[in-house]
Amino acid sequence: MNAARKIEEVRSLVGPARQSGKLIGLVPTMGALHRGHFSLIEAAGADCDFVVVSIFVNPTQFAPNEDLAKYPRRLEQDLAGCRARGVDVVFAPEPETMYPDEPLTEVRVKGLSETLCGRSRPTHFTGVATVVTKLFNIVQPDRAYFGAKDFQQAVIIRRMVRDLNFPVDIVVCPTVREESGLAMSSRNDYLPADQRRQAAALAGALRAGEEMIRREHPPAGEVISAIRVHLAEHAPDGMIDYVQTVDPEDLADVENTGERVLIVLAVRFGGARLIDNLLVEKS
Ligand code: AMP
Repeated sequence: MNAARKIEEVRSLVGPARQSGKLIGLVPTMGALHRGHFSLIEAAGADCDFVVVSIFVNPTQFAPNEDLAKYPRRLEQDLAGCRARGVDVVFAPEPETMYPDEPLTEVRVKGLSETLCGRSRPTHFTGVATVVTKLFNIVQPDRAYFGAKDFQQAVIIRRMVRDLNFPVDIVVCPTVREESGLAMSSRNDYLPADQRRQAAALAGALRAGEEMIRREHPPAGEVISAIRVHLAEHAPDGMIDYVQTVDPEDLADVENTGERVLIVLAVRFGGARLIDNLLVEKS
């Protein structure tokens, strides 16, 4: 496995693989890798001939009041995890490599970036779309792998790829959870033990909402209220940012739960903001 810090290094490693006809897979991450990330790496390894993992805590997707400085960074451990899974190249650039000057160009996916998490993080998805564009241009993968845990992000990237004609297939992999149901996230490390236990209620609340939908297809408002009650009871320290039922394609609010519906929520525990979602297929 090669670890590359510079753009020219990655290009000189990936270029020959592409020229020899290998299918190139890219897994973009911010590091502090856990089983969720590894599931994407394994999916890429199963599909592709050459796997690149990027590890970059992208400053432009954090607002000034967010956790950029304290976001966990464990490069040596991450490299070992990638090596053990047969990754070909890890691209771990410094911020100055990705942003040598104040950039004048950004990629904004309108509408989709402004709803759900975009309401409390108005600059976040433009930061994500821009850095993913840069990574696509640097690595030029055939396929790129994203997690369903960040569902809105995956919808935005798919739309960006369509709108801008990137020759990249987007693959979305299922959310990997801890035994408690808690969706794995690097940000779970911020939680003290008691709140980590409470955080498992996010998944419990989603499952309760799913059961309700499957049983009786109630109006969305009733499902949302029941989820809020579940959270208030089982995660008293959690401050709900949003609970919504949306169309998984365009993220528009859905009232009729007889349709295919994505239940999405975001909850803050102190400085840690956790998100989760569950897709309820038409039942
Ligand atoms: P991050 O390092 O948090 O930016 O995540 C990098 C990629 O891993 C994104 O596509 C995430 O959606 C994905 N990911 C993060 N956590 C999980 C999880 N628990 N299950 C599946 N994919 C995940």
